[in-house]
Amino acid sequence: MSENSFVKEILERFKPIWALNHALGLLDWDLETYMPSGSSSARGSAQARLALTKQEKVIALTPLVAQARKTSGLNDFENGALRMIMRDLDYYTKVPPTLVEELQRTATEATVVWREARRNSDFTLFKPHLDRMIELKKQEAEKLGYDGHPYNALLNRFEEGLTIGDVDRTFSRLIPKLKRILSKVVTAGKFPPNHPLESAEYEEASMKQVNREILNLLGMPEQTFRMDISAHPFTKGLSITDVRITTRYKRTSFKDTLFSVIHECGHAIHRLQMDPSFEYTPLVNTTSLGVNESQSRFWENFVGRSRDFVKLIYPILKRNLGSTASCNEEDIYRYFNAVRPSPIRVEADELTYNFHIILRYELEKRLIGGETSVSEIPSLWNDMMDEYVGIRPANDEEGVLQDIHWSDGEFGYFPTYSLGNVIAGMVFHKIRKDIDLEAVVKSGRLVDVKKWLQQQIHTWGGTYSPKVLQQKVFGEVYNPDWLIDYLEQKFLG
Ligand code: MG
Repeated sequence: MSENSFVKEILERFKPIWALNHALGLLDWDLETYMPSGSSSARGSAQARLALTKQEKVIALTPLVAQARKTSGLNDFENGALRMIMRDLDYYTKVPPTLVEELQRTATEATVVWREARRNSDFTLFKPHLDRMIELKKQEAEKLGYDGHPYNALLNRFEEGLTIGDVDRTFSRLIPKLKRILSKVVTAGKFPPNHPLESAEYEEASMKQVNREILNLLGMPEQTFRMDISAHPFTKGLSITDVRITTRYKRTSFKDTLFSVIHECGHAIHRLQMDPSFEYTPLVNTTSLGVNESQSRFWENFVGRSRDFVKLIYPILKRNLGSTASCNEEDIYRYFNAVRPSPIRVEADELTYNFHIILRYELEKRLIGGETSVSEIPSLWNDMMDEYVGIRPANDEEGVLQDIHWSDGEFGYFPTYSLGNVIAGMVFHKIRKDIDLEAVVKSGRLVDVKKWLQQQIHTWGGTYSPKVLQQKVFGEVYNPDWLIDYLEQKFLG
């Protein structure tokens, strides 16, 4: 991959760091799937210790990275590898260990309290912890440095180079259009908010069979991929030849597990289709959370919730799920695409999802910018939910306490969900210039879709920053117009 002697040495010394990432990933996967419940404190210590070892090894690369950066004529892969390492180095060298430790401790405590506060629907329990967390995140932003607004420093952690300007520009085009589409859809009643299949129960064994057949349709490789069960679905890419997803079975409304499988497979395909020569290097990573999420959203929504996909999987559903006996394809399509404004983000449909994100984004921006105090958050939350979604949460549990992210200190994460939707819209627009997506999906030739995504996006791993990658693939960045086009066609067309 590299001819440059400094880069060569960096890549050699990166291998143990790669191995630590591999081990940390597996420990994390095990924690969420098979670890006995009483083992969490030993596991926590082991993970913290390994993370520290990794940090030391990254910091030790500092002089070599500095020398490599002085050389001219590096190729894209060499520059990409350096860029990925520098992002870690930047954090480790600017944010003092005492602050990192304090952030970790606060997050652990805050998460425990958050669970209790959510159970009791009582924000006042959580408030002092959120106060402390905001204070620490402000300090973190100051240490990291930023142009303009401190929140930019936090956005950049999840999506390289992302600024408030980018997010504001995207939302200011997206949100008014979404409001208009939503109000028309609700008035027309074509996508009813309730469907009998939502309360229909299913046998876990039958649904497992459906999911197995979905994995087959998506061409998930048996030798390098597996699926297990966890409380919250996730994907863990341990290497290009070991990618794992999880799902869950709630016994009612089968689309919950079905779409979690398709979503996580979108992430898994991304990882499985990277250039195999990137293994053991810093490039074996998705470039950003937004790009990463675009892949899962593309498969889940643009493919999975389409009429053609319904046609494709209709026989599978019929064969395995008795509850679909009296349903035709149109019934299934409406079930998959029910539009129902809800106070809960994870239950949101394609039309309302981004309202949940702009709300969180606006609040985070104000909190980190010091324009709002934590005590104002619950009522601001409810007001904004009312404004965007047209619903007032009945209590804190279904309002401000619903997500884990803030207790974890993940400020700047939420916007990447919407950027994922936006980039998925850009993929949808672009891919249809090259292949007949509808025909390909209807006939089950999903390998054609995978091939396109691999050549355009997956193969590059972390070689390019998210903005550069978008510029290369689409000739534009974070353009919400294609998502709007798609939603207008789908819901009003
Ligand atoms: Mg995801």
